[in-house]
Amino acid sequence: MTDQGPDIRGIGMTSARTRERLVQRLADHGISDLRILDRVRSVPRHLFVDEALQSRAYEDSALPIGHGQTISQPYIVALMTQALLDGIDPAKPPGKVLEVGTGCGYQTAILSPLVRRIFTIERIRELLTETRARLGELGYQNIRYRHGDGMEGWPGQAPFDGILVAAAPAGIPQALLDQIAVGGRLIIPVGPSGRQELLRVTRTETGLAQESLCAVSFVPLLEGTG
Ligand code: SAH
Repeated sequence: MTDQGPDIRGIGMTSARTRERLVQRLADHGISDLRILDRVRSVPRHLFVDEALQSRAYEDSALPIGHGQTISQPYIVALMTQALLDGIDPAKPPGKVLEVGTGCGYQTAILSPLVRRIFTIERIRELLTETRARLGELGYQNIRYRHGDGMEGWPGQAPFDGILVAAAPAGIPQALLDQIAVGGRLIIPVGPSGRQELLRVTRTETGLAQESLCAVSFVPLLEGTG
């Protein structure tokens, strides 16, 4: 047996190959940042889903994680990460990033070494507790967790150089716009189910600039906590 490293212990010889196939697929679909592709290669996505779904962990699809929620599709996680980081000097990574919708923590894990600090908010307490334990065991340390309504952002830590939102509101919450630092970016899916688009809003010295990146399909951003 070849040494596949601790990440993929116990799930068979095909894992390195299926991971590499996923990386190739993302590259073919326009993910060009090698650091992000490398994160997809090394984050053990099978440890973020139920055992029964582990054999599908390196497919490019969302999967159920319980609590009526999903782990995001790898392509979408990579795309959002790229939208957050492109054009930014890797030697000067974003200092503070807010993530709304921690879920199982896959996006958090992909992002962790690419930024200085992550502040992540999840509305379902149980999910947050499980995820905090998982990311702790995997050794991610630059993350702070909060149980709450991410629509309000995290005012005590604002402003943020980046904000990533993993669920879609009908319109962009004002609190999140207010918490983007000058030069910072908000990456957010917006709109009703079936008609969502992924937006990037950048704060400049003079105001906000908005770009539409692509059509997407996210779970809804819900008000309050679960
Ligand atoms: N980031 C995850 C995807 C999570 S799915 C990944 O990498 O796979 C979206 C998550 O957003 C769900 O866990 C859901 O509970 C959470 N969510 C929905 N509305 C929210 C809100 N208002 N505040 C915080 N989290 C919210």
